[in-house]
Amino acid sequence: MSLNFELSDEQRLIQDAMTKCLEPFADRKEELRKMVLVDKKFPDELWEAICGTGLMGAVIPEEYGGNGMGLLAVALGLEALAKQGYGNTLLILTAMDAACILRNGHEAMKKRYLPKIATGEMKFCFAITEPNAGSNAFRLETLAKRDGDDYLISGEKVFITGADVADRMVLVCRTTSRKEIDAAGMPKAFGLALFIVDPKAEGVTLSPLPTRGIEGMTQFMVHMDNVRVPAFDRIGDHDMGSLVLFNSLNPERILASATACGVADHCLTKAAAYANERKLFKGKPIGAYQGISHPLAKVKCELEAVRLMTYRAAWAFDQDEHPGKVGSFANMAKYLAAEMAIEAVDRAIQTLGGYGFSEEYGLIYYYESVRLLRTAPVTAELILNFVAEHELGLPRSY
Ligand SMILES: Cc1cc2nc3c(=O)[nH]c(=O)nc-3n(C[C@H](O)[C@H](O)[C@H](O)COP(=O)(O)OP(=O)(O)OC[C@H]3O[C@@H](n4cnc5c(N)ncnc54)[C@H](O)[C@@H]3O)c2cc1C
Repeated sequence: MSLNFELSDEQRLIQDAMTKCLEPFADRKEELRKMVLVDKKFPDELWEAICGTGLMGAVIPEEYGGNGMGLLAVALGLEALAKQGYGNTLLILTAMDAACILRNGHEAMKKRYLPKIATGEMKFCFAITEPNAGSNAFRLETLAKRDGDDYLISGEKVFITGADVADRMVLVCRTTSRKEIDAAGMPKAFGLALFIVDPKAEGVTLSPLPTRGIEGMTQFMVHMDNVRVPAFDRIGDHDMGSLVLFNSLNPERILASATACGVADHCLTKAAAYANERKLFKGKPIGAYQGISHPLAKVKCELEAVRLMTYRAAWAFDQDEHPGKVGSFANMAKYLAAEMAIEAVDRAIQTLGGYGFSEEYGLIYYYESVRLLRTAPVTAELILNFVAEHELGLPRSY
């Protein structure tokens, strides 16, 4: 059969495992919510429970300690978690970094890092954004200079999520400066490389940024001053990081889409339950009014479409389809997921009236997190640029 929309037994097990692993926390929802939202503490217990299911091992083959189920399984797992109101950005970042190491790292690197990621023992963050290079990665200035068997890395990254709790960050650098490249007339995509760096290494300074959008996690300025990193920790070849980078961003976009689908589902369920209960005129629930039901129904239609697109993108990645094709699916899924999830949260809040803003119902917290998806990890405008150019063959304006 060429097209099959049935999930496998294994994939259903992953979804069920997410429900089961959260059961021990059912009575402590309030306590955990306060810990994440108010105290901004990383929920170690939850991380351990989630990773205990093997979710982080899904992108990792058995030979490196994983279960080899693939990115689609991680997407299903993250969606199932978000559907129950739980999410953790470091799960997305760790899974994307694992996929990057698996597809581009050397054998000894895979043996060193992947088994620890599979068990949840190691958390990873990802650092590409710089103050002078946001949407244009080719402008980044963080420089990794070769020094014998090591590199010395200096530069500055901004908005790096979870750099305080991550054991390692995947850091995108220049191995040849843009100035040298431009002077030699070489393509701007040349001269990049990715490294695995310990955020606690000597020479790294983390400065917290008062940023909103990701619950329970802080963004940092990461300042690096001659940080010594062994060449062992370079992912891919010197100067040849462009392809490594762009292939590695696709899983992040796919997993962000899956999470957005889960959040939208969660909010629609809450809204529908409330709309069935709340009665104000002639004993009818407010859900009987089409002003309430139609916007929710419209988002439900959109959710189902985005979910298919997200699974399609994850499947394409797992099938190792051409990276350009995976990139198109991943970008389109992430664009649609952000817009759909923003609408889902907005309509759910409207359904609950004033209670949409109450901390107890919790919908208002999602407002910021889904809105972030229109901007990060890549902006809606940059995705539309990509689709216009690569899918429609239109000229670049920039
Ligand atoms: C809460 C949060 C968490 C984050 N976590 C991380 C992280 O963990 N790691 C990391 O590396 N980064 C992280 N980021 C950074 C994020 O990925 C960037 O903010 C995002 O990619 C946009 O870059 P910028 O902020 O520099 O905006 P800019 O690139 O300066 O863009 C500004 C505006 O101009 C538009 N624009 C720019 N160029 C074009 C163009 N050619 N055509 C049309 N419009 C254009 C953009 O779409 C945007 O609307 C995070 C950001 C936030 C807010």
